[in-house]
Amino acid sequence: MAFAELAESSAGVQLLQRSLERGRLGHAYLFAGNQLAELESVAHNLIKTLNCKSPKVGAADIPVDCCDECVNCRKIDNGNHADVRWVRPESKSRFILTNQIRDLISAINLKPTEAEYKTAVIVAGDRMKVEAANAFLKTLEEPPAKSVIIVLSTEPGRLLDTIISRCLRLTFGSGANPAFTDDQLRWVETFSSVAAENRNGLLGRYQLLGQILAALADMKTAIAERQEAASPLERYDDVDPKLREKWEDELKASIEAEYRRSRGELLASLEWWLRDVWLHTLQLGDELLSFTEFSAPAQTVASRIDAHDAQENIQVLEHTQRLLYTNVQEALALEVGFLKLKLG
Ligand SMILES: [Zn+2]
Repeated sequence: MAFAELAESSAGVQLLQRSLERGRLGHAYLFAGNQLAELESVAHNLIKTLNCKSPKVGAADIPVDCCDECVNCRKIDNGNHADVRWVRPESKSRFILTNQIRDLISAINLKPTEAEYKTAVIVAGDRMKVEAANAFLKTLEEPPAKSVIIVLSTEPGRLLDTIISRCLRLTFGSGANPAFTDDQLRWVETFSSVAAENRNGLLGRYQLLGQILAALADMKTAIAERQEAASPLERYDDVDPKLREKWEDELKASIEAEYRRSRGELLASLEWWLRDVWLHTLQLGDELLSFTEFSAPAQTVASRIDAHDAQENIQVLEHTQRLLYTNVQEALALEVGFLKLKLG
C-alpha cells in the first residue's frame, strides 16, 4: 500500500508528505489514532518512501510516496529490511520490556547497511514499562544522525510526558478532524484573538486564564439549570425526606458528570487550536487547520514562537486535562497549565 491509498488518514498523511516535500522530516514521531493497524500502515509507508528505489516525487524532486513494488518496498513490507526495526509488546505480558528497547537502541546506533536511514518503530508505545520508557529517553532526545524513530499509540494519554514532548505528534484516521459546537467555536475565536493581541506577559496569561474560568462558570450554571429543570425535585413538593435527599444527591452527581464532560470538550477544542498554531509554525499551509474561519490569530501567535514551543503547548494542555481527571483542584490545575503556555 502507498500513501495515495490511505484515504481515511488523509489529513495526517498530507501533513507528513508535506514535511517530506519541504525537507522538514522529524527525527522522532508519535503517530496517534484509533486503529493500530492503520498507524502501522502509515509507518510502513513513511519508511518505504524514505527507502524506495523509484519513489513518487513532489515539487522539489523530493520523494513523497513509495512505488510499493521495488525490492526495498517489498523487503520493508515483509519485515526483512536490515535497517528497519520493529518492536511490539511481548506476547505473554503484553508489555514492551527494557531489553527490547536496549536492542532497538543498539540497532539504531549502527550505520545503515543498505538504506539511507535507520528506522525504528515502536508499536503500541503506551505498553512500554516505565523502566523501558526511561531507557529510551536519551535516544529520543538525541537520535543518531540519519535515523527516524516512530512511536505508534492508540492511547497516547498513557505515554510518559517526557516521551510525548520529544516526538512530533500526528493524528490519523477518524476522529482526526473533530466537529465543534457553536459555543466552542465562539469561545476559541475570542480566546485566540486575546492570545494574539497580548504579548506573553504574566498579565496576558492571567487574562486568558480569567477567560476560561469565566467560560467554565457560565457552562456550569447552564448545566445546573438544565438538569434542575429535569429533576423530579421540581415536580414534587411533598416527598419523603429520604427520597428528597436521594434525588438531591443524584442531581448533584449528574450536574458534576456533565460538567466534567463539557469541560473536557472545551479544553479539547483549545488543544485543537494550539495544534493549529503548531501547524503554522511548520508553515504547512491552511487546509490542515481545525479552525480555518479564523486562522489569522493562530498565525500571529505562531510567528512569535518556534515549532518546539508550539508542540510543548499541546503537551501542557494534555497534561492539564489528565490532572483534571484526577481530583486535583480545578482552578489550580488550570492556573499552573496556563502559566506554562508559550504564546510569544
Ligand atoms: Zn519502492
